[in-house]
Amino acid sequence: MKGSGDRPQPERQKPKRPKQRKSVSALTSKKLYQEADNRCPFCSVADVAVLEIHHIDGDPSNNKIENLIVVCGNCHTKITRGEISPADVHAKKMELFWTHKASPRRAEKSPKQSVSVNAASVSDSIIANTVTFGRKRSPRMQYPVDSIGADTIKKGYIDYLIKRYYDYRQADASYGSFRPFSHAEIHSTIQRKFKAKTFFIHVSRFEELCEYIKSRVDQTIQGRNNRSRGVSNYDAFESYEAEQLGNGR
Ligand SMILES: [Zn+2]
Repeated sequence: MKGSGDRPQPERQKPKRPKQRKSVSALTSKKLYQEADNRCPFCSVADVAVLEIHHIDGDPSNNKIENLIVVCGNCHTKITRGEISPADVHAKKMELFWTHKASPRRAEKSPKQSVSVNAASVSDSIIANTVTFGRKRSPRMQYPVDSIGADTIKKGYIDYLIKRYYDYRQADASYGSFRPFSHAEIHSTIQRKFKAKTFFIHVSRFEELCEYIKSRVDQTIQGRNNRSRGVSNYDAFESYEAEQLGNGR
């Protein structure tokens, strides 16, 4: 198919490119187009003829599927110029990854599943309940490497903070607050702010995400009452983590 990264590039000036460009395999290319639903994820243009494959880390020899994203020529230029930021590209790839992974009935075989080994005892015991090692893997557990969801404890802490927010919002009703409340709202607001779904946000933004959810908890009526009495609204991540490590076995 034309329009894939395989065709000779019309010499855009890219002076220093020490790494050798390798052509993307037909299979990878096909997966990428499927992942993108044959559309540019940035501007939604659906003309396959203008779609190209972008190397997210800028290394044209790194043809791992995680490093590649389909974009149209226009948006590709914007990425190269920095008008679309690397963070936006990363977030978009996460989003595609997530949306695409959520639907197919069977997960593609991935060569190695990375299981983080720091805190081995915890991950073992927690993961053992949800993931079958070996041939079968639960598709629900697939969060991209480097996403918050891929880190069991960080994900657990975010779950905890969000639960705390729900509980406090519920408590607010007993103070006579009739502000409409939806469980989905905080997730969709997070997605707008962080340009990725909650557990698909890059792990480097974990603290930022925590701060955001904490601020939401603090702004509830219950949260403000607690603070005025010097009562903390949530455990710090460090104590949460210590508790998980202690109870995990
Ligand atoms: Zn585009």
